[in-house]
Amino acid sequence: MTLIEVANLKKSFGTNEVLKKISFSMNKNEVVAMIGPSGSGKSTLLRSLINLEQIDGGSISIGNEYLVKDGVYVKPDGIKKVTGRMGMVFQHFNLFPHLTVKQNLEMAPKLLNLQSAQEIENHAKDLLDKVGLTEKAESYPSSLSGGQKQRVAIARALMLNPDILLFDEPTSALDPELTGEVLKVMKDLAEESMTMIVVTHEMGFAREVANRVVFMDGGEIVESNSPEEFFSNPQHDRTKLFLKKNL
Ligand code: ADP
Ligand code: MG
Repeated sequence: MTLIEVANLKKSFGTNEVLKKISFSMNKNEVVAMIGPSGSGKSTLLRSLINLEQIDGGSISIGNEYLVKDGVYVKPDGIKKVTGRMGMVFQHFNLFPHLTVKQNLEMAPKLLNLQSAQEIENHAKDLLDKVGLTEKAESYPSSLSGGQKQRVAIARALMLNPDILLFDEPTSALDPELTGEVLKVMKDLAEESMTMIVVTHEMGFAREVANRVVFMDGGEIVESNSPEEFFSNPQHDRTKLFLKKNL
């Protein structure tokens, strides 16, 4: 089942054409690793999906609902409905520093007011358990390691039961010895069939966990293939060059 459909997406910042008619689709339960050089438009593409950037043309739909169709955004209610199906994890965690770990998790669901306080608390407990941070519930982000902060950010992104998780270089800000604990949580989610797009430089993760690797360069999707094919038999010169530098 197709869950995300992007057609002819265009986005510029001023005269800088950052995404050039991108078309892309992915199925439910797929894990896509998105790789490519710095400045190729990976973050802008993810941010466009969750409406943190406005696109200039093309369409984005999630499930059978449009966020934007032929460059025209749907009504605010519709936007909320579509973006509410996604959670995002950022390179620099973006936790609220003045809130405890537990409060970070509970904030969005409390604002939405769709569940009782007890239900929200139980859900937060379960998710902290899942990412191995039960004992940090009352701690503030500043007292956590980078790996712990990112695991909190993942738990927080799961609080609204998203259908899709977007990760933008989730381990790039971490000391190398802390990346493993975060990748482990992401691998567990993949094994539970969470639909995920992961922008990453972790080639091992792309190879082992992703169902598909998408390579971007210069605002275009240059190549999209299974990890096996992608790494053993890259088709394009730009892909070959990138892999030569990054493997
Ligand atoms: P990547 O994530 O692949 O490194 P980005 O999507 O961050 O690439 O950036 C793609 C291009 O868009 C870069 O040239 C970058 O400088 C530019 N860009 C990104 N965000 C902005 C912004 N808010 N304003 C102006 N230019 C931006
Ligand atoms: Mg980026």
